[in-house]
Amino acid sequence: MTTPALFEKYPTPDALAEATADEVYDYISSVTFANNKSDYLVRMAKLLKTRYRGNIPADADKLQKLPGVGRKTAHVILATLFNKPVLAVDTHVARVSDRIGLTTGAGTPLETEEQLLLHTPQDVLPKMSHWLILHVVIYAQLKRQKCGKCEIREICRHYNTGE
Ligand code: SF4
Repeated sequence: MTTPALFEKYPTPDALAEATADEVYDYISSVTFANNKSDYLVRMAKLLKTRYRGNIPADADKLQKLPGVGRKTAHVILATLFNKPVLAVDTHVARVSDRIGLTTGAGTPLETEEQLLLHTPQDVLPKMSHWLILHVVIYAQLKRQKCGKCEIREICRHYNTGE
């Protein structure tokens, strides 16, 4: 909801690098932690401009050196923009993976990622996080229907054990 106006105003990292955090804040004020994120966005754009000529690096280590970019965000960029075989794990992905039974007892996002990587074919990895996040949305709807319409209920741990 925020990106159309934001991208129209700042269509490139170079354009964003010229903005102030206060100016960017006006475009993203409805998102959580907007103060921090507007500051990160401007500093990130400046670094992209000076270090990478305004291009996004296709490298997890380089991405994670950008302000506000951690492992999850780096993997979102690598999977979505560059179709790299990596998994982006946030709390939603971790929770739903455990609920379905794709992971067992994974405590941290990294542990979830490691367990999912063991059993996910390489060619679907770039899409896997999106599928799981979409499933969270679907599950929220299906929950009211007791998961009865879910097409994977026969293999779902939650459906079969109630855990
Ligand atoms: S039955 Fe389907 S919707 Fe319900 S928890 Fe399992 S996977 Fe999710």
